[in-house]
Amino acid sequence: MLVEVAVAAAVRGTFTYRVPPALAAEVTLGQRVAVPFGRSRRATGYVVGFPAAPPDGHALREIVEVLDPFPPFTPALVQLIRWAEKYYLVPPGELLRAALPPGLNARRGAQGPARRGVEYAAAEPGAIDALPSLGRAPAQRAVLEYLLARGRIPLEELRRAFPHGRPALVALARRGAVRLDRETKVARTGVLAAGAEAPALTGAQAAALAEIEAASGSFATFLLHGVTGSGKTEVYLHAIARARAAGKGALVLVPEIALTPQLSGRFRARFGDDVALLHSGLSGAERHAEWLRLRRGDARICVGVRSAIFAPVQDLAVVVVDEEHEGSFKQDDGPAYHARDLAVVRGKLEHAVVILGSATPSLETLENARKGRYRRLELPRRIDDRPMPRVELVDLRRLRQAGAELAPGLLSPRLVDALGETIAAGQQAILFLNRRGYETLVACEACGEEARCSQCALALTHHARRGILLCHACGRTERMDARCPSCGGARFGVGVGTEQVEHAVRARFPDARVARLDRDSVTGAGDTAAMLARFARRDLDVLVGTQMVTKGHDFPGVTLVGVVLADTALALPDFRAGERTFQLLAQVAGRAGRGADAGQVLVQTFHPATRAVARAVDHDYGAFAEAELEDRRRHGWPPFGRLLAVRVEGSESAAPRAAEALARLARPALRGEVSLLGPAPAAIERLRGKTRWHLLFRAAAPQPLFRIHAVLAPLASRPPGGAEVRFDMDPQSMM
Ligand code: ADP
Ligand code: ZN
Repeated sequence: MLVEVAVAAAVRGTFTYRVPPALAAEVTLGQRVAVPFGRSRRATGYVVGFPAAPPDGHALREIVEVLDPFPPFTPALVQLIRWAEKYYLVPPGELLRAALPPGLNARRGAQGPARRGVEYAAAEPGAIDALPSLGRAPAQRAVLEYLLARGRIPLEELRRAFPHGRPALVALARRGAVRLDRETKVARTGVLAAGAEAPALTGAQAAALAEIEAASGSFATFLLHGVTGSGKTEVYLHAIARARAAGKGALVLVPEIALTPQLSGRFRARFGDDVALLHSGLSGAERHAEWLRLRRGDARICVGVRSAIFAPVQDLAVVVVDEEHEGSFKQDDGPAYHARDLAVVRGKLEHAVVILGSATPSLETLENARKGRYRRLELPRRIDDRPMPRVELVDLRRLRQAGAELAPGLLSPRLVDALGETIAAGQQAILFLNRRGYETLVACEACGEEARCSQCALALTHHARRGILLCHACGRTERMDARCPSCGGARFGVGVGTEQVEHAVRARFPDARVARLDRDSVTGAGDTAAMLARFARRDLDVLVGTQMVTKGHDFPGVTLVGVVLADTALALPDFRAGERTFQLLAQVAGRAGRGADAGQVLVQTFHPATRAVARAVDHDYGAFAEAELEDRRRHGWPPFGRLLAVRVEGSESAAPRAAEALARLARPALRGEVSLLGPAPAAIERLRGKTRWHLLFRAAAPQPLFRIHAVLAPLASRPPGGAEVRFDMDPQSMM
């Protein structure tokens, strides 16, 4: 017997091993195994196939051990990973590793946290009925009889009773007669009772649900397009409730759980312990415990972030991707897969309904809906017909021309007035600025030299409270000396960050309760949740923050949202800059006026006529998307063209040399159907001491890009000068 094994390491391709007869009964698709790898090294691998014949000319080695009583991956997940491996040009082992909770990845299984808990075995209810059919499997019969007599027992006891009983036990588990589980010492946080009341759906919600229902049982993808607060989440909850009533499972992907405790809370409140959460705020052991509950079918609904696309939900019937436009579904480093797009693939593999929800769908998804590939469902109005907040532009250009004083904090007189009124009325305000720190640039008055990171091609940000200059890319700090290190001249800072806004608001409104939410003010998920809870309890009047304040929070007390500067993302060298700006503005505006009182949004900008800003002010997604798609079509950008980014990193000399070498190799293969942009230095040319170059390949469809990859792969795995090359299919980041 032969098996194809993906090794959990950054190596391309898979390897064939022989299965020793003693292990043959235990090896199934998706099983985790220990294999000899390289020179005497033992590695963890996963069984991803059963080849009929060995590859030519290789002496095959044998797998050493089967590491789990049941395979961590279902056959459908193995298929999904193999699909992702080919599409995203990622070594399968890397994907498999990313797909599992940390405990299961330990190279030697016995040492990982996965093995720490006590393992138990028990006969399943009704297993006694299996006894007559075990006449020709005496070992299985003996083990099952023992378990029927003893109930749930530690595996250790069974090992002592049946020293050679493991294959029999595994066979019993596979036929569903025996359950194997493991008790970790993890206390699961707050066991919730299900059953929070579901509201009666509005007409639009009911119509959307009816269409989803009609498609259930087979594969279909829906775009659920609804403005913020239109009741999308309620539609997900209903669709999942129906699946659950039919004994089926559901997977809900969200961009970020720590920032949206309300959302996961609603799922827990409705479905109780049937929900397993998977996100990075959990400890490894907690994640492992949640993962096991899904794998065993004890929890049928998974709510998780990007990597939860690989969660072992059983009998999957509904896949939801909330805020499908969010960039965080695509990983930048490590295996560069897009969880939203994989959600559609998984739905297809498992015959599930896929719901992509957003107030501002990505143009890729919109175009798929326009072409009829996805079905579009609309929730055009907010619940209870609450009005969309009124959005007003504050033209900073004109204010500056009129000589108005904008610093500190870039607070315009209009914004100060609105803040004053909001605070006086006992209501709450959110101020959003997508820049951390006090001043975003520090330079010398005398020689003009800017403070830059020695390792990255980036200006340092002044963080006043800590008294430091900080590199936001690599985290290096320098002392904030008042004098220029080159000439001794006096230095000054420009550019406003959230710390300065917070400072300015406090100075203006000394009695107001003001807090800041960004990566400097909170560390970890617990902190973030605590601050959001304070704001929700109305212990705070004003919350200043980065995009952490824009997420799907539902704060009924918020009547004012101020966008301190709408333009921060506009100038980025990225064809999605406009789309990102529109999405952020729509998202943050949606935080206002969710309660009984109407909301108002003030958007400060130096570019009031820019499409993204102007259309966000009108709440006109349709007009924005229409015009933006036209531009994309004209320039061949996605969704009308496909991109493959090749990212090269290395020494100052090696990176450009490797990039040029790759370009030379690729050019004859372009054949008029692929265009090559670059090679060129990346927008952030130096990062953590490494020089970065990019090549961007563009074609009308993915196939020619795979061809380019095949041409480049041999060189990419051994580029000159020790550079590193990464392929990124459908790149989201152009930096
Ligand atoms: P979205 O996900 O589109 O932002 P939500 O589902 O969160 O919208 O709904 C917004 C608010 O309206 C929430 O407080 C939710 O509980 C409430 N809501 C949603 N649907 C209904 C309904 N049919 N009846 C009453 N309230 C609802
Ligand atoms: Zn740096």
